[in-house]
Amino acid sequence: MRTTDDRYRGERERFELAMRMIRHEARTGTIRYLTGLSDDRIRKLYTSYFKFDAQGEVKRRRGKTPTQITPLIRTPARTLESGVFVNLLLANGLISIEDPPGPALRGSIELGNRFCECYETHVRVVPKPTLSFEWAWNLMSAIRRGDEIGISRCDRCATAFLYDQLALPRSPCPACPTLRACTSKPSAEAAAPAG
Ligand SMILES: [Zn+2]
Repeated sequence: MRTTDDRYRGERERFELAMRMIRHEARTGTIRYLTGLSDDRIRKLYTSYFKFDAQGEVKRRRGKTPTQITPLIRTPARTLESGVFVNLLLANGLISIEDPPGPALRGSIELGNRFCECYETHVRVVPKPTLSFEWAWNLMSAIRRGDEIGISRCDRCATAFLYDQLALPRSPCPACPTLRACTSKPSAEAAAPAG
């Protein structure tokens, strides 16, 4: 019976991951990629467990995922937000600077859940996050492809950040100017005698 139990558990885990991703409005193709479930079964999950009312609690995303990711690093604010997600991906071993692109993801329930955890942490820790689940997925895929954006670690503050591979000169660490602004004081004030 062990084989049957294992198969049942594996099946249940795939469904649970699919449900978790549906709650984040993941696209069918992304769910299929990570869970190995067929489009038909994913569609049945949507219709069985989620309502499609006017309030649109869970929207079903159709079509292809967005592929052009440079908007995610267009402004310092967006670069910082994307950077938070990238650091979560690195900490969870979903991407690697030293050993790109990182572990194989297709059909991995464990890594799929880890990706969901990264995304859930991201929306908890970033004030007013703009990154959607699909953009987060797309960002990770682009980093793993390595042809559009690169990932670098700042020598000064050790923050990992993204840069446009085609842009010259390469953009600086987005965290360091912020740190300087927060910690620097006018030199006159610093030099003034106490009291
Ligand atoms: Zn830095």
